[in-house]
Amino acid sequence: MKKTGILIEMENSRVKETTLGMITLAARADADLYALVLDGVDDPACDILAQYGITKIVDLGLSSAPEIRLNPAVRAEAVTQAAQKLQLDVIFGLSSADGKDLIPRVAALLDVPLVMDCLDVDLKKNIARTSQYSGKVLADIQLSGDLLIFGIRPNAVQPVLSPAQAKKIKMASDSASLPGFALVSWDDGDRGQASLAEADIIIAGGRGLKNSDNFSLLFDCAKKMHAAVGASRVAVDEGWVPYAFQVGQTGEKVSPQVYIACGISGSIQHFAGMKTARMIIAVNKDENAAIMANCDYHVQGDLFEILTELIRQL
Ligand SMILES: Cc1cc2nc3c(=O)[nH]c(=O)nc-3n(C[C@H](O)[C@H](O)[C@H](O)COP(=O)(O)OP(=O)(O)OC[C@H]3O[C@@H](n4cnc5c(N)ncnc54)[C@H](O)[C@@H]3O)c2cc1C
Repeated sequence: MKKTGILIEMENSRVKETTLGMITLAARADADLYALVLDGVDDPACDILAQYGITKIVDLGLSSAPEIRLNPAVRAEAVTQAAQKLQLDVIFGLSSADGKDLIPRVAALLDVPLVMDCLDVDLKKNIARTSQYSGKVLADIQLSGDLLIFGIRPNAVQPVLSPAQAKKIKMASDSASLPGFALVSWDDGDRGQASLAEADIIIAGGRGLKNSDNFSLLFDCAKKMHAAVGASRVAVDEGWVPYAFQVGQTGEKVSPQVYIACGISGSIQHFAGMKTARMIIAVNKDENAAIMANCDYHVQGDLFEILTELIRQL
């Protein structure tokens, strides 16, 4: 039975939904599931982890001081030490903003193979499925080694209950202060919305929005639908919204339940970031736009009229 460590991401003391999906993916194999928790875990969170199949909850007990807790080198060292002490065979983490910072550091410290942005992982064969060449092909990458690390795309797997009994283990790390690396300041980077990669619903705008003021239509819709707002690269390059909103080959890769593309033509590079959405809805005035042939539903017409009506209906 493989010992699989899962890097747990929390938000306001709650285990993120995307983390639960990652646990479900690991639970598909015959694995012993260790939750690796860096930011403290209370009893309700422990119960949730157990409901999804975690058998050991490892509290890595980082100091609550932000300059230590948020230091990526300290976090990576704590996970590295836990992986060695627990003799893990596999580590799963999310390919989220935090995961992209943490997981490659852990792989480098341990000098072990890593695949990021996995859509699926077969732990029996150690094969990771990833999207390559702007989503034109799916590649199955087989890893070998004593310890393998996989970064899982948020929302790639829907969480499924798999109740287990979980034991809590406290494991202090020796990484409280690493010489030569200090975090001197940090910025929460509040974008006024939930993380794009983790949103269940995304409503995105492109060149068709025409200017930054018109993005308020998307924000109004998003608020009513509990959605996040995304954008094409054109909208970002024009300065209408920050880069953090960009979806696509050179932006965020997302797998929401629903992706609503407004005034976006559906270039290959945009599709590379959202083609794994479970439902794609296009709003476009051009019936020949590429996105109209590559979506589940489309509404042909002027997006300003359609979004105004949508807001009214919502
Ligand atoms: C290396 C590389 C990387 C790239 N990475 C990315 C990336 O990560 N993400 C990305 O998005 N792009 C990326 N691009 C750019 C990409 O090729 C396209 O240029 C871009 O996606 C087009 O953005 P758009 O769909 O908003 O604009 P357009 O292609 O100009 O489409 C605008 C659409 O809006 C519609 N429209 C206009 N007015 C209205 C209206 N009133 N009502 C309804 N519909 C309307 C039009 O019919 C049209 O279909 C990349 C390009 C390169 C070369």
